Amino acid sequence: MTAIPFVRSLNVKLILALAGTALAAVALASFLMERSASSEFRSYVMDQQMMEQHMGGSTPRMDQMMSGPMMGTREDAFLADMRQSLWISGGLVAAAALVLAVILARQITGPVRRLAAATTDIAGGKLDSRIENTGSDELGQLGQSFNSMAATLQRQEEERRSMLADIAHELRTPLSVLRGNLEAMLDGLLEPRHEQLSVLHEQSVALSRLIDDLRTLSLAAEGHLELHRQPTDVAELARRVVGEMEAGAKEREIALSVEAPESLPRPALDSDRIGQVLRNLIDNALRYTPASGRVRVTVRPQAQRVTVTVSDTGAGIAREDLPHVFDRFYRADGSRTRATGGSGLGLAIVKQLVEAHGGEVRAESDPGRGSVFSFALPLK
Ligand code: ADP
Repeated sequence: MTAIPFVRSLNVKLILALAGTALAAVALASFLMERSASSEFRSYVMDQQMMEQHMGGSTPRMDQMMSGPMMGTREDAFLADMRQSLWISGGLVAAAALVLAVILARQITGPVRRLAAATTDIAGGKLDSRIENTGSDELGQLGQSFNSMAATLQRQEEERRSMLADIAHELRTPLSVLRGNLEAMLDGLLEPRHEQLSVLHEQSVALSRLIDDLRTLSLAAEGHLELHRQPTDVAELARRVVGEMEAGAKEREIALSVEAPESLPRPALDSDRIGQVLRNLIDNALRYTPASGRVRVTVRPQAQRVTVTVSDTGAGIAREDLPHVFDRFYRADGSRTRATGGSGLGLAIVKQLVEAHGGEVRAESDPGRGSVFSFALPLK
């Protein structure tokens, strides 16, 4: 169906539809009223005339009964008057309907136009565009949904930018150490001795760990992380990871212990990934706990899940930092944690890996006295 060019505007379409319907209704009503009023009036005049003849003693004539009432000038004037009033009131109602149609059409097309303009803004990258005075009808609800969609897009874009800046920042430090040292060696300013090379090796290990962490995070965020699930004894896994980290704890003079029942239900887990979760949590606990402190790993069965807790007697986390510690690149107390070498990705990975298993993570802390990180894994 080809559209008539001037009827392409939604405004005109709505006015035509609303005013057209009102006009048709008024015209039909006027026509029917005029017809029934004049026929009623004619039969009234006829009855009057027959009654007059009857009272005058004459019998009504058959031809008169057939041809209808004798209409005089007064009767004709009355009928013409009535017709005129009907068409005038019909015209007034039609004019009012037209005005109402214009107002109504504007009320509908105004928000639609604002929505179209804001959508064009968003498509052009102006993500702070919003619709004001949305109102509470269906179009208002559409406007509110649009606003919240635009806010989400804006937040995601800001997160993407800040993440890019963070990645660039994290890559720069090890790369500049590597580059500076290598250039000094090439220029003969620094001898490639064992300790020099081991610094460079450490930096390259940090770089590849950062890249691995970023890859794990992006795969998990997109839901593409492959999990090789096997029925796993979580207590056994915790003992193994604690065993691996015992030497490091001893070096820092921290008592590292594990508390787990002998027999536990065996949830289907990717033991490498959950091992990584445990390693990240224990590594943090050891890093943020001073010498002669304690780090305890506890495994407990609960209704339909297994809960693992890593608690320490370390520095703890300030109340305002606690809700953010699972965010990417978040470091509570930047100077302290930067010195310890963390990238701020460890807990973000913990959260993503646990959630990929359908579980949940929690962090509690008593600043100055220690922290408790726990995660729960569903049995099914
Ligand atoms: P990082 O690599 O910097 O340790 P994480 O994501 O593992 O990054 O942790 C985020 C921040 O949470 C850390 O920078 C640190 O400030 C805080 N944090 C994590 N675990 C602990 C803990 N056990 N005790 C105190 N602070 C902690």
